[in-house]
Amino acid sequence: MSERLSDTSATEPAARSVAVEPSILDNISIVLINTTHPGNIGSAARAMKTMGLSNLVLVEPAEFPSGKAFALASGADDLLDNARVVSTLEEAVADCSFVVGTSARVRGVSLPLVEPRVCASRILGEATGGKIALVFGREDRGMTNEELMMCHLQVHVPTNPDFSSLNLGAAVQVMSYELRTAFLDSLGGVELPKPRSHDLAPQEDVERFYEHLYQTLIQIGFLDHSSHEKIMAKLRRMYSRIRPDRVELNILRGILSETSRFADRKKSD
Ligand code: SAH
Repeated sequence: MSERLSDTSATEPAARSVAVEPSILDNISIVLINTTHPGNIGSAARAMKTMGLSNLVLVEPAEFPSGKAFALASGADDLLDNARVVSTLEEAVADCSFVVGTSARVRGVSLPLVEPRVCASRILGEATGGKIALVFGREDRGMTNEELMMCHLQVHVPTNPDFSSLNLGAAVQVMSYELRTAFLDSLGGVELPKPRSHDLAPQEDVERFYEHLYQTLIQIGFLDHSSHEKIMAKLRRMYSRIRPDRVELNILRGILSETSRFADRKKSD
């Protein structure tokens, strides 16, 4: 078969088509935070669709819907039409049991950091048991530390350290390609890592737990308002390493409620 190298359309017939779709890729969402240029949303949609991904979530985009997004999507209009627009990252990942952040920079309290290939195979393994979000940051300043701390894993494309920042659409393309490659490998019989449990707590429950933990630690005087940020970041990192399931999370919340009641009783003694 002769190779077609023109860039006129993303709707050319696929050279290596896969019959078994809908697929596990449907459990993966690409989340874009506060995208400034609508063209980047279109490029991301095109990158996703070429690789068989379909769920796009936009957290407060500056301009959407937009003709510029449709122009750059080059036919991936359905992804833009079906994109879910939300106002916070919390909302975007509420129903996900595994959240991955992308960053051109390695941060202070860093999460486990992986390269794209390892990350893609990890995501596919997790996607057998629940919904996954792969989150991308703003064009000018990426993801905030707080946003990264909502993730279980951080992925970094090993770019030139002196010029490390990819265009947003290009970053989505690299990760979507790796996800497709891992998906195709899995069809070829390579066993994917399985998530530990099919009943992992969704992110909205985990966030409620962190808030409960924070309030309780303030109440018992373990945290004060000046020291809380670093300690909470470290605690989040620890719990995201452990990844409590629903039952474990309920036990932890029960302990917090009892701790809080105990502290109240002590105070009134
Ligand atoms: N100036 C920003 C980079 C923004 S690039 C910063 O320093 O963080 C826009 C987004 O593309 C990033 O938030 C990230 O989601 C993705 N991205 C860009 N380069 C990347 C890289 N080398 N590895 C992983 N993600 C990258």
